[in-house]
Amino acid sequence: MKKRIYLSPPHIGKMEKAYVDEAFRDNWIAPVGPHIDAFERELAQYVGVKGAVALNSGTAALHLALRLLGVEEGDVVFCSTLTFVASANPILYQGAHPVFIDSEPNSWNMSPQALERAFMDSAKNEKLPKAVIIVSLYGQSADMDPLLSICKRYGVPVIEDAAESLGATYKGKASGTFGDFGVYSFNGNKIITTSGGGALVSNDTEALNKARFWATQARDQARHYQHSDMGYNYRLSNVLAGIGRGQLQILDERIRTRRNIYDRYVRLLGDAPGFSFMPEMEGSYSTRWLTVVSIDLQQSGIRSVELVDRLEENNIEARAVWKPLHLQPLFEKCLYYSHKEGYSVSDHLFATGVCFPSGSTLEEEDIQRIVACIREMV
Ligand SMILES: *Cc1c(COP(=O)(O)O)cnc(C)c1O
Repeated sequence: MKKRIYLSPPHIGKMEKAYVDEAFRDNWIAPVGPHIDAFERELAQYVGVKGAVALNSGTAALHLALRLLGVEEGDVVFCSTLTFVASANPILYQGAHPVFIDSEPNSWNMSPQALERAFMDSAKNEKLPKAVIIVSLYGQSADMDPLLSICKRYGVPVIEDAAESLGATYKGKASGTFGDFGVYSFNGNKIITTSGGGALVSNDTEALNKARFWATQARDQARHYQHSDMGYNYRLSNVLAGIGRGQLQILDERIRTRRNIYDRYVRLLGDAPGFSFMPEMEGSYSTRWLTVVSIDLQQSGIRSVELVDRLEENNIEARAVWKPLHLQPLFEKCLYYSHKEGYSVSDHLFATGVCFPSGSTLEEEDIQRIVACIREMV
């Protein structure tokens, strides 16, 4: 069997080990320490916001953002449907109800038309959402201008789930910095990783301090352990923040590599019948965290699942596009707004989409092996 090719494995640079060693040398192993403070500063500076809170997952960051916006039991939160379940689970943690919003074809992210219809209905029913979670998938920002202007018109705050789009820009500004709060993830398969981790970013430094307080068990300023508020154990450790600092230094390089991998796929497979690669919207700079292609069954004669299976037989890890959350048994009872009445973009992308191996460790010969395998089918 040939060596396994992973979808998006970790890729460590030169500095991570040195920072981790430093944490060991100084015995800063706990979820406090100089690497955490530095990582937060460096991340905030990289994306251009006033502050960041380093956490043990992106999911934790989403949860804290919802609580900061006062989302409570019985509230409604709008959320992109085409995403990983972690985008919406924190809505359930708060006892609130998600309403799912479809994608549009240009960015594959949230559809302004669908969002507008969802708002019109909720205004009619006099129950506006408490927040809107806009997800930016596969390395590309959602079309923020029209989405933000709708949310602003209704006076509803925005959380950007930029777990997959760290390093991307929209009209020159970093993905994750458009909403009231932005969320990043440093899980093992993301463009940079701390093995597991996340961050909450914002220009509201007071809110971020509150998030830090909740993330460390909400301990009051007292000589004994005293608590007046409910907290969580959500902080990143100083050791892992050291990995994050090293990874942040090579993020731009990783983006260039992933974009090159995308270009190679397009060059080698762009003429395959029925293949359409995820578009890069005008004004948007994608990291191409994953190279994703939608495969038209009529034109290509291939089902996306068959392609994933064939690659797997050759020890190559590919994946279907996210199964939309409105199709998940967990969210069976939730409302859903499609891009157009009777036409759901996310359903189509789920049925036709495949994510190709896109890690920055991928070699040219790996790409050749993947493409050869696909070429046998088309
Ligand atoms: C990875 C991911 C998350 C969750 O991040 P974790 O750090 O794994 O908790 C949330 N949303 C999206 C879109 C993701 O891809």
